[in-house]
Order: sequence, then C-alpha cells, then structure tokens
Amino acid sequence: MSARTRETILAIVATDTTFVRARYGEGEAFIGKCLHCGGRLVIDLDGTALSRATIEHILPRAHGGTDALENLGLACARCNSEKGVRHDSRATFDGRLAEVVHALVAKRMERWRPPSDELRARHERYLLRRSGGTTASTKETRRAKKRR
Ligand SMILES: [Zn+2]
Repeated sequence: MSARTRETILAIVATDTTFVRARYGEGEAFIGKCLHCGGRLVIDLDGTALSRATIEHILPRAHGGTDALENLGLACARCNSEKGVRHDSRATFDGRLAEVVHALVAKRMERWRPPSDELRARHERYLLRRSGGTTASTKETRRAKKRR
C-alpha cells in the first residue's frame, strides 16, 4: 500500500464520523463502518488498512468521478467490487446507477465530518499534483522556501 494511498485513507477517516480511534489488540486503530453495508473496518494509525478496506469512488471514475474527499469513502473489498461489477462498469450513466450514486452521496454526507483547513489544503495540493497542473508552481514554492 503506497504512502499516497495511506494518506488518502487517513483523509477519508478524518472526514467520516463513523471512524473513532479505539483500542485494537495491543495498540490503537481507527475503527469505522463500510459505506455500503456498515461492516466494521479497521485502519492502522498510519493509514494501512488492517481489515479489507478499500477506497470507494462514489461517482465512479469512469463516469467522471474525482478524488475529491466528498467523492471518496471506505468500503469492504467485497462491497466495493460488487458495486464495480454491478454498477460502475455500466457504459452509460443510467437511472439505476444514478440511484446508487445518490444514495451513497447522501450516506457520505450523513457521516461527513468537515476536514480541518490543513487537511483540506493538503488534499487539494495532492489533487493538483495528481492532475500535474502545478508542478512548476510547487517547485517555485520550494525554491522560495529555500531562499528564506
Ligand atoms: Zn461492506
């Protein structure tokens, strides 16, 4: 699991009220609920999924869904792949898929915990890096920092 994936998982955990930091075995972990079935998901404090948790794109990427925090949730691997097979792989954004997406958006918003300004800013920088839009300006910032 890459550092980026772990960072994204932690950002979702931070914005989902079902996740709480709790005792887990000898240590602590974030324990919360699958966006679909409500099944228990366990995330290590460093963002590693200890149960079979996966990142779910509520509006599928194939239909224009982004990595904005509002469009991401955590789901059991089984739930996520079922949605993938049954809905996300549909070629057209039809009524059934729209229903599924709307229900999940509502669920995500019910559980929504607003991110801190710092988390929001960090995630936005991550999105920009991914889109490749601000490579130059990021370098500029780094250079500017060095000069100080
Ligand atoms: Zn599930």
